Amino acid sequence: MVRVGFIGWRGMVGSVLIERMLAEKDFTGFEPVFFTTSQAGQAAPRIGIPVPPLQDAHDLDALAKFDILVSCQGGDYTTEVYDKLRNRGFKGFWIDAASTLRMRDSSVIVLDPVNRDVIDAALAGGIKDYIGGNCTVSLMLMALAGLFRRKLVEWVSSMTYQAASGAGAKNMIELVAQMAHLSAATSGPLRSGASALELDRIITDQLRNGTMPTDIFGAPLAASLIPWIDKPMENGQTREEWKGQVEANKILGTRQTIPIDGVCVRVSSMRCHSQGLTIKLTRDVPLDEITAMISSDHEWAKVVPNAKEATLNELTPAAVSGKLSVPVGRLRKMTLGPTYLAAFTVGDQLLWGAAEPVRRMLRIALEHLSKD
Ligand code: NAP
Repeated sequence: MVRVGFIGWRGMVGSVLIERMLAEKDFTGFEPVFFTTSQAGQAAPRIGIPVPPLQDAHDLDALAKFDILVSCQGGDYTTEVYDKLRNRGFKGFWIDAASTLRMRDSSVIVLDPVNRDVIDAALAGGIKDYIGGNCTVSLMLMALAGLFRRKLVEWVSSMTYQAASGAGAKNMIELVAQMAHLSAATSGPLRSGASALELDRIITDQLRNGTMPTDIFGAPLAASLIPWIDKPMENGQTREEWKGQVEANKILGTRQTIPIDGVCVRVSSMRCHSQGLTIKLTRDVPLDEITAMISSDHEWAKVVPNAKEATLNELTPAAVSGKLSVPVGRLRKMTLGPTYLAAFTVGDQLLWGAAEPVRRMLRIALEHLSKD
């Protein structure tokens, strides 16, 4: 029987992956084994079938015996282990959520509702590395696949509003701790009828007096935002901003690069990345046709009417969190001209932005192996 090893199942992406695999009854037809970097020997997650205790994720000889390895552990782990494992003779599929291998020629970035053709060609060509894309990139492509597929996009400027959970479990815990800190400082004054100005002074003091927990983010996020995600690049972009163009074009398999750039901002949403998009169309297309193209491309893209009630009910992280649908709203032609389209999209970055493409790639790889 095919053996599949899971590394990083305890983190945010990994736990959502396991949750989705259980919901889709995916744990059949292969033998799963769970690995850890910190808890070897402890009990593996409960998946409804017997599984051995957690194995050591640094044991290369053990890992090399698997047909498929799925890693949601993170880039440092992939950097440390991947090349050594291949050099040790690992010939199986490597399916990964981290960015380390995304831009290598030997890998494909997976987002099958958008690029199943690219994945199938890679499988036929013997490619073994299938990597989930950056969360904002995958969510933008899920939202706009209907326009990209028709070659209607000349360029995109994307201003992002990215949730704390995009940075991992520890960041989520710190955001909630920051919220609790602000709540503790304001709950008394709020009860005794403090004015908005007084509450603002208390909050601003807490944000600046160095008492908020900020070890993980490096700055207050609750009641504020952080317009910097990932490392600096030489051209002034952050690495998160750099990924937008290079990854989207790799996923789409474009011959001529579609320019994509913007500013990536961490906000205090718990879950879901949102993006305000300026899309330069290659030609003037009526809005009703654009709506039809977006919503009919695949079953998860959904257009929200450009009206206040629908926007408040359907186009917020609060509405979208935990859902697979990727709503696109605030669609309108901009005053800049008829080929300039404004859009706002929200997607659960732990689902289509991370775990779901990995989960589906595992199924695709299993199907492929079953045909051999
Ligand atoms: P994470 O939540 O930080 O988890 C990664 C690992 O940290 C876990 O597998 C676990 O490994 C260890 N860990 C340490 N303390 C933990 C705690 N308190 N709770 C849970 N796990 C803890 O990272 P992640 O957000 O899942 O990201 C994994 C990879 O996916 C990264 O490369 C990231 O860039 C990428 N990614 C993330 C997202 C996202 O939305 N978060 C989206 C797309 C891609 P052990 O069990 O071995 O100790």
